[in-house]
Amino acid sequence: MRTHLLNSISTCPLGGALMDGNTYDSIRGRLTCTCLLVETDSTLVLIDTGLGLGDVAAPHSRLSSFFLRLLEPEFREEMTAIRQVERLGYDPRDVEHIVLTHLDFDHAGGLDDFPHAAVHLLRTERDYALAQKTWLDRQRFRPQQWSTRNNWQVYSSGDGEAWYGFEAVRDLKGVPPEILLVPLIGHTFGHAGVAVRTESGWLFNAADAYFYHAEMNLERPHCTPGLRFYQNMMDKDREARLWNQERLRQLRRDHREDVEIFCSHDTHDFERLTGRPFADPVPLQSSTESSSRRAQ
Ligand SMILES: [Zn+2]
Repeated sequence: MRTHLLNSISTCPLGGALMDGNTYDSIRGRLTCTCLLVETDSTLVLIDTGLGLGDVAAPHSRLSSFFLRLLEPEFREEMTAIRQVERLGYDPRDVEHIVLTHLDFDHAGGLDDFPHAAVHLLRTERDYALAQKTWLDRQRFRPQQWSTRNNWQVYSSGDGEAWYGFEAVRDLKGVPPEILLVPLIGHTFGHAGVAVRTESGWLFNAADAYFYHAEMNLERPHCTPGLRFYQNMMDKDREARLWNQERLRQLRRDHREDVEIFCSHDTHDFERLTGRPFADPVPLQSSTESSSRRAQ
C-alpha cells in the first residue's frame, strides 16, 4: 500500500494571513485542495478529487461566481488530480474507485475526469446536495460537476464496526478493507473523513472537519479569524462540527502513534506530510517505475 498526497489546485481566499496565518504580503491567502491517492496491490483509489480539468477549462460555466471571487483558484492544469496521477506514471483508467468526503465543488471537481471510477460517499451527502435547497447550497454543490452520478454508490452512516470510537463504513463495494469512510457530520450533513491503513499506521483524511492545523493543537486549539468565519459560514450543523473537532483532538491525544490526521485545505499539514512545497505537483515518475512497483 503506497499513498500520495496531491494538492489538486490551490485557492487564494480573500483575507491573506487572516485566512492562512501565513501570507502577509497579499490580500489573498493560500489554501490547498488535498487529495490522497492510494495504490493497493489490486487497484488505485482516489480520495477526493479537488478541482478538475473541466473547472480549469471553463470555470465560469461550472463554478459559482461567488466562490470564484472569494477563493480565486489557481487554475493550473498540471495540478489537477488526473494530471498528477499521470505524472506518477499511472494510467488514470486504473483509478477504479473514488471515495468522496463530501460534494463541495472543491472536492468533487475532478469526478468527471475519471468517468469509469465507482464513486463512494454517504447517502445523506448525495441526497442533500441533489436537493439544492438554499442559495449557498446551490453555490457550493454544483450539478455541472456530476456527469458520473449514475456510478455513485451511497452508504448509511452506521453501516459497520466502529473505528477508534467513531462510526465507520467498512464495506465500500470493491474497495480494499484498509479504506474506511468515517462520518464527521457538521461541515455538511453527509460529510465524512476517510481512514487508510498503511504499513506505518492509519492515515486519516479529516477533510473539512477542521481547516487550520492548530485546531488540532491539544493544549491551545486555535484558528485564524478568517477560517473561523469561513467554517461558520459553510457549516450545516455547528454543534456536530465542534463536537467532531473535539473528538478528533481526543483521537490525536490518545492515538498519536497510530493515527496521522490531516485536513483538506491547510498548506502546513500538506507540507509536513509530503516534504514538498504545496504549490508543486508530484515529482515526475516514469511509468515503468510505477508498473514495476505495482507488479511487486
Ligand atoms: Zn473544502
